[in-house]
Amino acid sequence: MTSWKTAFAFASLFPATLALQVCTEIQQAVSAASAVYYPCGNLTLEFEACGTENQRPLSAASGVCSPCSGNYDANNAHWVASSTQDAACTVEPATAADVSAIIKLLGKTRTPFAVKSGGHATNPGYSSTPGVQISLTRFNAIKYDKKKETVVLGAGLIWDNVYAELEPLGVVAPGGRVPGVGVAGFTLGGGYNWISNGVGLTIDIVLEYQLVTPKGDIESVTAESNPDLFFALSGAGNNFGIVTQFTFQAFPLGQVWGGLLIHEAADIAEFNTAFANFAVKTTDPKASIVSGFALDDSGNPIAANIMFYDGPEPPAGVFDEFLAIKNISSDISARTLTSLVASAPQTLPPGTRGYFNTMSFFEYTPAILDALLNETKFWGPRVAEVEAGALAGYHMEPFLSTLYTHNSSDTAWPFLRSESQRFVPLQMQFTWNSPKHDTIMREFMEQSAAHLTHVANEDGQPIQQLPLYPNYGLFSIPPERIYGTNLPRLRAIKAKVDPQDVMGLAGGWKLW
Ligand SMILES: Cc1cc2nc3c(=O)[nH]c(=O)nc-3n(C[C@H](O)[C@H](O)[C@H](O)COP(=O)(O)OP(=O)(O)OC[C@H]3O[C@@H](n4cnc5c(N)ncnc54)[C@H](O)[C@@H]3O)c2cc1C
Repeated sequence: MTSWKTAFAFASLFPATLALQVCTEIQQAVSAASAVYYPCGNLTLEFEACGTENQRPLSAASGVCSPCSGNYDANNAHWVASSTQDAACTVEPATAADVSAIIKLLGKTRTPFAVKSGGHATNPGYSSTPGVQISLTRFNAIKYDKKKETVVLGAGLIWDNVYAELEPLGVVAPGGRVPGVGVAGFTLGGGYNWISNGVGLTIDIVLEYQLVTPKGDIESVTAESNPDLFFALSGAGNNFGIVTQFTFQAFPLGQVWGGLLIHEAADIAEFNTAFANFAVKTTDPKASIVSGFALDDSGNPIAANIMFYDGPEPPAGVFDEFLAIKNISSDISARTLTSLVASAPQTLPPGTRGYFNTMSFFEYTPAILDALLNETKFWGPRVAEVEAGALAGYHMEPFLSTLYTHNSSDTAWPFLRSESQRFVPLQMQFTWNSPKHDTIMREFMEQSAAHLTHVANEDGQPIQQLPLYPNYGLFSIPPERIYGTNLPRLRAIKAKVDPQDVMGLAGGWKLW
């Protein structure tokens, strides 16, 4: 069995009664600042035992009643329903010491668990579990230090809240570009942000991780205090423990400019020309775009383009070609970052399932853009044939060749950081509703990536050597394609930091 199949099988086979027993032990081990929540459904007998509808016994034996509440559902919830599972219990630790107590118990009992920040993982089981769901929502501190020009952020925050709090101070720690994305999962995978062209990935601006190691030690990890672990945390997800807090470098940010433009089918050729020109000609590090193709309700392709400029007005020439194209919807203005992020809402109807898949290209050439449009026209009807309402979209993100040079140190991801070997990510997104279509949608996404790889090779782009971005990656991608030449070093660090592979009890990208 491939490693992702093994991981899914392990978690689902763990006996629910044992997981519940561990929940009881966790409840007894953590401080009063933290809380454990249980499902509320089908508890008639237990309600009687506890005497109130919002209580259930910790176990048949204990006689101790504990609250079941909406927190249980919220702690399990994800952006896509396919990433949500019903845990035996959910726990909201409030202190690093409680996280330490929890991880020690989970390791000792070999109980499957999950760690969730913003819940935007699009791979099933990456931040959900039938075992113990750890929600970091109580780690919500935002502390700006003007003198040091740093921002401390709790690992349970979403970026929208960070921007809203920092905006009046005229600073930013750059993270998610659309609403709802979590600080921790985003950062631990890399983090393409709106000012990446100027400052790098979000991992490039981390100064300190507060980490609870798989052995339960609470450590401040900096490039100086523990260079190996700092390297490993910078891009290798949850393999090395649970981060409770990050310290980021802060950057000045005032009003920004931009928003969303949508173009209909007849104007997409012109849009592609403008996009290809922007991708090769723009050198201004304050400018950035994320663009995508999808089909509208009538099955016709549309191009959506979110533009960003770090300043209230972009210099002439930067976005003019895009602005000159006829559009069917335009929401462009000078605005706050919060307003710009909110201009691209990403809320899905309840129950929507979905995966991301990713590819990296050396460059978004006209041939690649044509191929992406063709894929949209090909897969859009195919997924709708499988299930009415299912959607297929492709999102292109051109960045400057200097993006990966903002960090002079190595990071777990990406394993290539040379200016001469520029690569740009693609995010493929398919959504549907029925669990019975999970497998075929995954296969479609894999087939699409295989076809695009062929097109890229024909276009003179041997993209198989490029790093794939874990935060957009489909779970069937092997770790070699993500961590590449960094894998031996990461595995050696893992053997020291997590010899019992406690973090292997949680889903997420693994190193083997
Ligand atoms: C709508 C949408 C928009 C996006 N926009 C962007 C974007 O602009 N740029 C970009 O780079 N990416 C983007 N992404 C991808 C995003 O970075 C990943 O989905 C990321 O994993 C989300 O982080 P999270 O905290 O919300 O997710 P979660 O599901 O909470 O966590 C993701 C992974 O991180 C692990 N994890 C979470 N918290 C911790 C912790 N404290 N310690 C250890 N491990 C932890 C989890 O166990 C899980 O494996 C987007 C995704 C979506 C769905």
